[in-house]
Amino acid sequence: MDRIHASWRAAYVSDATEQSRNSDSSCVFCDLIERGVSKESGIVFLDELVCCILNAYPYGSGHLLILPRRHEAALMALSEDESDALWRTARAAVGTLERAYDPDGVNLGANLGEAAGAGIPAHLHLHALPRWSGDTNFMTSISETRVLPESLAETWDKVTGAWENPGDTPSSP
Ligand SMILES: [Zn+2]
Repeated sequence: MDRIHASWRAAYVSDATEQSRNSDSSCVFCDLIERGVSKESGIVFLDELVCCILNAYPYGSGHLLILPRRHEAALMALSEDESDALWRTARAAVGTLERAYDPDGVNLGANLGEAAGAGIPAHLHLHALPRWSGDTNFMTSISETRVLPESLAETWDKVTGAWENPGDTPSSP
């Protein structure tokens, strides 16, 4: 299947690759987390326990990844605090996607281990992806080409603009 390459994504990926080459860590997620929340890192939310980041290779607009800040592959190895924070942030991500994209549904899930389809199995992450009725095979059946409807920069603007943590009052920063 062909992909339409967009320059913004190429820049993001080469930057992330460069970053990991210059670091002791071999994990792209860990390297990006060090850079903090920014359009360049793709991180939309970060606290002491968890991170939410745009997928650099989205299946569609608004594809988010939620991960523990600590480099950990195993779900069962998370602390209770990390586990709570991961779920709290997954809820925040889903709520944000609902506000920002008004989708018909949202996929939320994880591929644990390479055999289960994880692209980066060494650092556990959840996927959250907005879905619309009938979107499944629309692009692929028409043209054999996967088209991304919006850039990662646009996604970052939308998601950070709509982000609210569960329990926050509307006046919270
Ligand atoms: Zn990592």
